[in-house]
Formats: sequence, C-alpha cells, structure tokens
Amino acid sequence: MSETATLTRSAQATEHFDVLIVGAGISGVGGAYHLTQQCPDKSFVVLEAQDSFGGTWWTHRYPGIRSDSDLHTFGYRFKPWTSAPIATAAEIRSYMGEVIEENGLAPHIRYHHKISAASWSSKTNLWTIEATRTDTGESVWFTANFLWMCQGYYRHSVGYTPQWDGMDSFKGTIVHPQTWPEDLDYKGKKVVVIGSGATAATLVPAIAADVEHVTMLQRSPTYFRTGRNAIALAEELRALHIQEEWIHEIVRKKILFEQDVFTRRSFNEPEKVKQELLGAVRAELGPDYDVETHFTPSYRPWRQRIAFVPDADLFKGIASGKASVVTDEIERFTETGIQLKSGKALEADIIVTATGFHLNVLGDIAFTIDDEPLVFADTVTFRGMMFTGVPNMAWVFGYFRASWTLRSDFVADFVCRLLKHMDEKGAHRVMPALRQEDKDMPLLPWIDPENFNPGYIMRGMHLLPKRGDKPQWQHTQDYWAEKDEFPAIDLDDGTFVYG
Ligand SMILES: Cc1cc2nc3c(=O)[nH]c(=O)nc-3n(C[C@H](O)[C@H](O)[C@H](O)COP(=O)(O)OP(=O)(O)OC[C@H]3O[C@@H](n4cnc5c(N)ncnc54)[C@H](O)[C@@H]3O)c2cc1C
Repeated sequence: MSETATLTRSAQATEHFDVLIVGAGISGVGGAYHLTQQCPDKSFVVLEAQDSFGGTWWTHRYPGIRSDSDLHTFGYRFKPWTSAPIATAAEIRSYMGEVIEENGLAPHIRYHHKISAASWSSKTNLWTIEATRTDTGESVWFTANFLWMCQGYYRHSVGYTPQWDGMDSFKGTIVHPQTWPEDLDYKGKKVVVIGSGATAATLVPAIAADVEHVTMLQRSPTYFRTGRNAIALAEELRALHIQEEWIHEIVRKKILFEQDVFTRRSFNEPEKVKQELLGAVRAELGPDYDVETHFTPSYRPWRQRIAFVPDADLFKGIASGKASVVTDEIERFTETGIQLKSGKALEADIIVTATGFHLNVLGDIAFTIDDEPLVFADTVTFRGMMFTGVPNMAWVFGYFRASWTLRSDFVADFVCRLLKHMDEKGAHRVMPALRQEDKDMPLLPWIDPENFNPGYIMRGMHLLPKRGDKPQWQHTQDYWAEKDEFPAIDLDDGTFVYG
C-alpha cells in the first residue's frame, strides 16, 4: 500500500503498538513473554492467522503427532518441563497455554488475523501492517515501530506434495499430514506413507495397530536414534524432591552437553557414529533385517535432522509385521496404488504424502520499504535474524539440530536489548548495513548446504537472504557458538545504522 493510502485511512481504523509480533507459535508466545519481562513499558500485539496458539503444534493433527526434540530444550528456558521428554502436540499446547495464562499474555494475542502486507515508511519510521480477519473477512490495519517475525519457516495452509504421473487416476485417498482430515478412516486399510522423515516415523507406528498394513515408502533412508522416552537424571532428581526449576536447568545442561559431543563426533568421526546409529537399529530389527538397504543413508550423520524414535516404536511396528519399509522410487500412481521403478507395485487405499513443506519466507507477506517491494534474497543477513536494508525488523529462525526454541530465546534477548538500546540512544530506527570493510565480502547461500541440506531449504534457497563470510553476517546454526556470541553482540560496532 502506498504511503498516501496509509495516510488517508481514518486514524480510528489503525491501532498502534511499539512492537508487533507475527505468529503465536512457540517463538511468538516466547517473544511476548520476554517483552513483558524485559521491556515491560513496550506496548505490543501478537497477530495470529489461525484460530488458536501453538503454530506447528496447532496446525499438525495427524495421528501420533509429537516432538522429536526433548521438551527440556524445546520448552522455554523460563518454564520447567515436568513430563516425559518427547511430547505430543496436545502436551506442548497445554504447556504453551500455561505460559499464556501464567503471564497474562492472552489479551495481547489476536487470533484470526492473517497479515497480508507490511510497508515501512522512513518518513514516519513506522511499519503499517494490513491484516484480514479470517473470521469476518474484514481488513484491519496496525502501525508498529518494530516487527518481530515469528512466522516460522513453512506455509501452514498447505504442505508440499510433489506431482507424480497418474495421481489423478488413483481411486483411493491422498492426504498430506499437514492437512490430515479429522474423519479419515484408516482402520483395516492398506496405507502407503511416502517419506521417511520425522513425520513418517511418527505416523507409521501410530497407525500400525489399526491398519491392515502400512508401508513407509522412501527414496533413500534416514538416520534415526532410539531410546527410552525418559531421562534418568530427571527421574532421579524428581525422586529426591529437587525443585522443578533446578531439574529443568540441570537436564537442559546435560542434554545440550551430550548433543554437543554427539554433533562434534558426527563431524570428526562420522563413520563411527554411523555404525553406532545403525547398530541400534539392527538391535531392534534383528540380524535378518536388511538394514543396509532401508536404514543406511548415503550422507554423513547430522547433515539432516536425525529423528528420535521414542521407545523404538517405529521398529517395533516393523518387527510386528504390521509396518514395512520399501526403498524404491515412484514410477507413477495407478488406480490401485503406486508403480515403483523397480517394477514392484504397492497396493493402497490411502496414500499419505509425508513429503515436507513449502518454505514460507516471511509469512507470505508482501513487504515494501518506502513503496519499493522488498526482495528478501537481495539482502544480507545479520546472524540469521536481521537483514541489510530492512529497518526495525527481526526474524526468528531457530535451530534445526538443536531445539528451535533455544534460539528463539536468544533472539528474544537480543531484540529486547536492541529495543532498550534504541531508547537509550533516542533512535527511532535501526538496521544492519555492510560496513566499508564488508563491501567486498563474498556472498554465500543462507545456510551452507554442506552443513545442512533438507529438501525445503534447498528448494527455497534462492528466496532466502545471503550470508557473508564474517561472524556478523553468518548464519551458523551453532548453539554452542551463539550462546556466548549473542549476549556479546556490540550494538555500536558500526554494523547497525541508527536513525
Ligand atoms: C511436525 C513437526 C514437528 C517438529 N518437531 C520439532 C521438534 O521436535 N523440535 C524442534 O526443534 N523443531 C521441530 N519442528 C520445527 C518447528 O516448526 C519449530 O521447532 C517450531 O515449532 C516453530 O515455531 P515458530 O513459532 O517459530 O513457528 P510456527 O510453529 O511455524 O508458528 C508460526 C505461526 O505464525 C503464523 N503465521 C504465519 N504467517 C502469518 C501471517 N502472515 N499472518 C499471521 N500469522 C502468521 C502461523 O499461523 C503459525 O501459527 C517441527 C516441525 C514440524 C512441522
């Protein structure tokens, strides 16, 4: 929308807030909490397109939906997690609901508000945000000094389904886990789940007992880790009646320490780590199972997220005979199932495409800066959270190898510190800008594909901001570096331009 249009709208129709948070997922609710604690004088609103809070944990309704991170680290650092570490979506929402309730956040959150446009004006130093109320269809406008983008990284309305020949001819039902129909009856049916990521690994054991048979069809294998859905140290400390706050902190430290060791090992001795992971799978499936074909990826551990299989339920499903894995490629869909390139065919009543997400850069919001469309891919990222040429905006992009929320807590601390710093300086706008010495820096893709390369990032890399080769302009996905680097970011080292 042009500035003129903004100005001609009646003043009453536009509400103003110091900070506008996009999205009421784990990052947005966390951001709201941190604002109330660290910047209590700031007015703020959280706009959420959906009917309730939770984000990922509200959108996904497929059977068995659960975390694959432990909730001590996926939970906020400020609220103890007191149950089993791998949690269902319902448990995560209930935990988030307590955070909202205990901290009086509900009045700040507006549901059914889908933001469609955001325009920055350097004349007013304000963002103008246009949203559509999904319940009434009404357009509503807000202005805000600072935009805190907590919209996640994928489109919530629809999942990613590749197009295969013959899909229209299939007589059964095709579903994507992201839009799982509530009334889908899979009892006694033959189900094929395409994919072998965390979603497939959750879904397959969850439906195995009820279906006639479920086949996990994968083009290539994935690494899995397995273990008991419990943390012995947490149980011991609880038996000693240690306060939950302490247990949360100690268990977080232990998990993060172990993850650090594991990550380093997977870079330094990938073959050994690989054999350990495969050994655990063999132990569950027995010596006759073809682990080589179905569970031995070609890449080294950690290049993609390693899904945790609690209590080995996926492998138990396979061992029971109700679930199986097929490693092959799809030739085409047929009336009755899937024809594979090997010549084999899979019969199916239901085909589930657990094939991932549409990367959703900046929440499908049309951004303009002084009436010019923002081309996000032309910007350079400041530590994966702010962008050159984009004033008063931060984006939460969490960790993939560690829990997402660890980083959303860090970004929240940074945003609150920056807002306070701006107030101290009397600044109304801030944005990162390449310094003279950064101008010749090589510009690289958002994330190093050698380091981390899931499909949705690879498909969308051209839409994402660039990364440089200096610490300020890197997006490392390294919790262990960032935990020390973030609090030490010098807000006056010339990287930020204030106005
Ligand atoms: C099935 C599944 C399981 C996962 N499990 C884990 C795990 O175990 N551990 C882990 O670390 N990560 C996991 N992830 C990654 C996960 O998405 C993040 O960890 C985390 O939940 C993201 O939180 P978020 O609040 O940043 O974004 P989201 O959960 O994506 O929430 C973003 C919110 O913003 C809203 N929004 C977006 N655009 C707009 C707009 N234009 N206007 C208004 N509102 C908007 C959306 O409706 C949504 O509610 C998982 C992801 C999936 C899909």
